[in-house]
Amino acid sequence: MDKITVIGSGTMGNGIAHTFAQFGYKVNLVDINDAALQKAIATITKNLDRQVQKGSITEEVKNTTLKNITTFTDLAKGAADADLVVEAASENIDIKLKIFRQLDEICNANTILASNTSSISITQIAAVTKRADKVIGMHFMNPVPVMKLIEVIRGYSTSDEVCERIMDTSKKLNKVPVEVNDYPGFVANKILMPMINEAIITLYEGVAGVEEIDTVMKLGMAHPMGPLQLADFIGLDVCLNILRVLQDGFGNPKYAPCPLLVNMVAAGSLGVKSGKGFYDYSGGSKELVLAERFKKKAALEA
Ligand code: NAD
Repeated sequence: MDKITVIGSGTMGNGIAHTFAQFGYKVNLVDINDAALQKAIATITKNLDRQVQKGSITEEVKNTTLKNITTFTDLAKGAADADLVVEAASENIDIKLKIFRQLDEICNANTILASNTSSISITQIAAVTKRADKVIGMHFMNPVPVMKLIEVIRGYSTSDEVCERIMDTSKKLNKVPVEVNDYPGFVANKILMPMINEAIITLYEGVAGVEEIDTVMKLGMAHPMGPLQLADFIGLDVCLNILRVLQDGFGNPKYAPCPLLVNMVAAGSLGVKSGKGFYDYSGGSKELVLAERFKKKAALEA
């Protein structure tokens, strides 16, 4: 597998393209938005510069990595001769189904089609193609060049051979792949999102404040980041969407999102990306600053 096409050049797509290119693969990076492609190349260059400064790669590896990436706005041109396509477009079922229908027409019969989706069913995506055995989940973690894990998701019809090839390719990227089955949230989000939701419920019920909850989980459980800070980092809208997928997929009320999370998303308080969530990022300070709303210890008292 030499030629990789990455679709979507946002947060995840640029990291996935960077990682494949750094390990010698030729990468076609495709996005419908030319400005997003330019931004992705600038981000990859900045991240490679940081790796050079840290001494983890040489200047030569940086230059080869950048040469290995070609950008496209036309999916048919960018994916025509790919051995493996990794789709990392926006988390929207209609967008993904359309892309996979197109890929099934454009790509060679042997091309493996992978999705980096956080929560959409791989089996459902595979079902719109005529090659369900060659459709698989390759769930990279953010930031991709740094994080070791790839959750490899077997759809209902994914073949053993395709699964083995993706496990091998993941190892060639110096990652640790873990094989899981295709059920809502896979493994990572099935466990992480209820924990984040429970942290928000704990705040909502007035058991403790934001800093207290995060400190208990950081110092007590050796988590590098508290669950509320992590929710801000992931995006509260993303957390809410994944909880809805779990709630619908399992039909179990234990996944019902906390009303406080629903309100925060409705109010546009989405975490780091909107400048405010449980913490306030608008001042650009490196220190964590509590959002005004949560300065009182318990949310319900406010
Ligand atoms: P993003 O919004 O940063 O980037 C999405 C990109 O896809 C945009 O540049 C957009 O222009 C492009 N796009 C939209 N429709 C397209 C199309 N038809 N063809 C080509 N490009 C198209 O999103 P992201 O955070 O990088 O997430 C991408 C995928 O990765 C999602 O499925 C998400 O669930 C998954 N994911 C995200 C994270 C995370 O922490 N952000 C972690 C793991 C997995």
